[in-house]
Amino acid sequence: MSFRSRTHTCGELRASHAGETVTLNGWIHRVRDLGGLWFADMRDRNGLVQIALDPEKFANRAEIRPECCLEVTGVVTLRDEKTKNAEMPTGEIEVVLTSYSLLSPAKPLPFPVSDESQMASVSEELRLKHRYLDLRRSYMYRSLAMRSSANQRLRNFLSARGFLEVETPIITKSTPEGARDYLVPYRQEAGLWYALPQSPQQYKQLLMVSGVERYFQIARCFRDESSRADRQPEFTQLDIEMSFIAEEDILTLNQEMVREVVNGLITEFGLDKEPVGDFPRMTYAEAMSLYGCDKPDIRFGLELFDVTSIVSGSEFGVFQNTIEGGGVIRGVRYPGGSGLSRKEVGVLEDFSREFGAKGMASISFIAEGEGVALPDGLIAKSSITKFFTPEQLQAIADAGKAEAGDLFCFIADGYEAGNNVLYRLRLEIGDRCGLRDPRKLAYMWVTDFPLFEWDADGQRWSAMHHPFTAPKTEDIPLLAETPGKARAQAYDMVCNGSECGGGSIRINQSDLQAQMFGLLGIDAATQEERFGHLLEAFSYGAPPHGGIAWGMDRLIMLLADTENIREVIAFPKTGPGMDPLMNAPSTIDSQQWAELGLKRG
Ligand code: ASP
Repeated sequence: MSFRSRTHTCGELRASHAGETVTLNGWIHRVRDLGGLWFADMRDRNGLVQIALDPEKFANRAEIRPECCLEVTGVVTLRDEKTKNAEMPTGEIEVVLTSYSLLSPAKPLPFPVSDESQMASVSEELRLKHRYLDLRRSYMYRSLAMRSSANQRLRNFLSARGFLEVETPIITKSTPEGARDYLVPYRQEAGLWYALPQSPQQYKQLLMVSGVERYFQIARCFRDESSRADRQPEFTQLDIEMSFIAEEDILTLNQEMVREVVNGLITEFGLDKEPVGDFPRMTYAEAMSLYGCDKPDIRFGLELFDVTSIVSGSEFGVFQNTIEGGGVIRGVRYPGGSGLSRKEVGVLEDFSREFGAKGMASISFIAEGEGVALPDGLIAKSSITKFFTPEQLQAIADAGKAEAGDLFCFIADGYEAGNNVLYRLRLEIGDRCGLRDPRKLAYMWVTDFPLFEWDADGQRWSAMHHPFTAPKTEDIPLLAETPGKARAQAYDMVCNGSECGGGSIRINQSDLQAQMFGLLGIDAATQEERFGHLLEAFSYGAPPHGGIAWGMDRLIMLLADTENIREVIAFPKTGPGMDPLMNAPSTIDSQQWAELGLKRG
């Protein structure tokens, strides 16, 4: 078997190469053997080109089967006008073979990598078991290429601004980000364990104490959580930390970086997306009040509204009882929803119940027809209008900015429980009305998060971001008496309704950090054992610092228009955290058990 070096890639050949003798390496994508005529598409990472041969001269041509690996030499030849293929960049030419050599034959594949239309019926398990074949698909290759380009662009952006890329350990000690650790036994002394990092958080802060000032890392993080479609046990973050900065500096730098990187990728890969603009900002309290959640999808309006004071004192028991119990009545507008049948409204009620609502009340606002005529001209229609005066109904219409054809959906509940339903209802309505435009990347910042959230199961405070997050300076006095009211110097980057990054200004004083640990229920001895290194480091001139991390996988998911994180990772795990390709996790032999000093449970 001769192996000449390739002269060209398949995808680069054009009419201007006509007459040249070329040598190509690649795979056979599809074969069309028509007896007297023989064609095939040959593929490499740059694209496809048609090759042709004279069946009389190549008696062994049946060995050229789909997905075999081949070297061919031939002459680039212009196709006839009628056989040109405008769909293919190389469609004006074909390569007429003078010789070929089969570099590596291929058995029939477990699924057809050359026919996207058949891939929907192939199970993901089978694709993952043969991931090396799945990655031959141009769709999959493109997501690897996008990742690679994103990494390159981030490195260029940050290096140009004086950031140092520093690698931090993978085998280390537990650092809390709120998930379970992956643990690795220490062979040399039974009973000791390493943890894989949930993030490089403590190391990057220690690098600030070291005077690095500007750090970044494209860091692998490990969290032992039950996998969901959008989570993986190991995932990649762009991790950043800076000294001598304020929150504003981080927000500005990251907005600039996202815009430069994402807009560059949109152009490079010809993505059907609008360029990313300025990121609007919203406090956590505003986001909860307008959108019912801390990761709003602001591609559309339909903000939530409150009618508690308008309906207070009415005869409508469901509303009145909620208000008397300290709850609120809030609603969301469904444009065009007045046309829904009773049954279709029932579907929305069931949807609300699924997320904990006791029920959902609704009022339609129409231009004409039966119902209560309102002072400003609309007509309100619902089984509950009888409990309200026309003026109250008008005030409700105004609160939600009613337009003819709207259905207002109301949830009566505690503020948080109601939000939990309303934010989903709003997204559902957005989907139904086609308002979640996939061409838009609506990035934004959510700021001023609470420092703590109450963990009802554990009956204690837990850190909303992580224990290293600094409180707002003016809220430090609240820590002693009302920690639940303290706000954090923390911010999240949100896009299209998903959190895609988050960070904070950190605590850099040992005593404040110890107070924070104390509030989280970590006693002095445990603090010393788990975080003594950090508390000590903060006593040697720790600079003020802060940072952020964003999920690289999520970024690529947004650009590749997929909800499935496995589509953007070369070798991902399945739902239960298994790798069907390598067969991991796997058993270990008895010698390994013994060496590690472990006993089978
Ligand atoms: N370590 C944090 C996280 O993984 C990010 C940060 O605070 O910089 O979410």
